Amino acid sequence: MTIEPRNRFIGIDVGGTKILGVVADPRTGEIQVRRKALTPKYDPSDLPIAIAAVVEELIEEAGRPVGIGVGVPGLVDHQGVLHYGPNVPGVLGLDMAGELRKQFGLPVVGENDATCAALAEHRLGAARGTMHAVVVNQGTGIAGGIIIGGRLHRGANGFAGEPGHMLVNANGHVCACGKVGCWESVASGAGLANIAREIVTEGKGARLLALAGGNAAHIRGEHVSAAIAEGDAEAQLVLDRFAWWVAEGLASLIALLDPEVIVLGGGLTAINRHFISDVQELVNQTVMGAAYRPEVPIVPARLGAEAGAIGAAISARDLFHGR
Ligand SMILES: [Zn+2]
Repeated sequence: MTIEPRNRFIGIDVGGTKILGVVADPRTGEIQVRRKALTPKYDPSDLPIAIAAVVEELIEEAGRPVGIGVGVPGLVDHQGVLHYGPNVPGVLGLDMAGELRKQFGLPVVGENDATCAALAEHRLGAARGTMHAVVVNQGTGIAGGIIIGGRLHRGANGFAGEPGHMLVNANGHVCACGKVGCWESVASGAGLANIAREIVTEGKGARLLALAGGNAAHIRGEHVSAAIAEGDAEAQLVLDRFAWWVAEGLASLIALLDPEVIVLGGGLTAINRHFISDVQELVNQTVMGAAYRPEVPIVPARLGAEAGAIGAAISARDLFHGR
């Protein structure tokens, strides 16, 4: 499949461990070429070089694109400058878009990675056709994006859509951002592990402890998934408490934003068959004015692991067409 030159855009998704680049048609989400590279770990100044190498390979393979979009994890402003990213340590004040523009002489837009994924779910995925939507991606942390009035809400600086850092429990766990009690610390992959440790501290969860080699500090989300797959009842306690925290955060987002739909992405939604319907039921019970408002459907994301890269290409097309 070849994409016509006028619809050919490059989308780059920079993750904590890998960089995914695609040549895509942002109108349909069709991908012509994919390229992957490792995110440089040690020297932050290697990141723009690694991204440029991926772009170069994509251009070699598919031809010159109309524009390039780059999604990076962290606070990215309207000019595409990354100000702060806990998952790409040492990278501060990096003008990724500017560097690529200089090197390739093409229009380039920089965005937050989860904002890109939300844009893709809104244009082509589970939130397609909605005017008001919230996309929440539960990975190691929690990232998200907000659609208001049919448009992506970027906020005053471009930093909007970070629901993972809403305060939900002031006496809770330390978050990756350094604060205590963020939603992410109880409702992400890291949160699942925190809750498992709580259960162990309460004298339960023997199987979880065994899977982590007897050291509670080593319990990870994968140990919980493994114990649940074995049918361990105390691992189910972890999952019940986890679902409750997920629902509490979603109920707050509904109170604040009144969306038509909430899209849940990331690997955790598949932790068991009932997870989304359990969360839906809890949200329906706990949301403000529960008995007097329509249910807000909670649906799984559709575009999977390539949503960020496709969304970056969409953002580049939006820039090119002045949207
Ligand atoms: Zn936080």
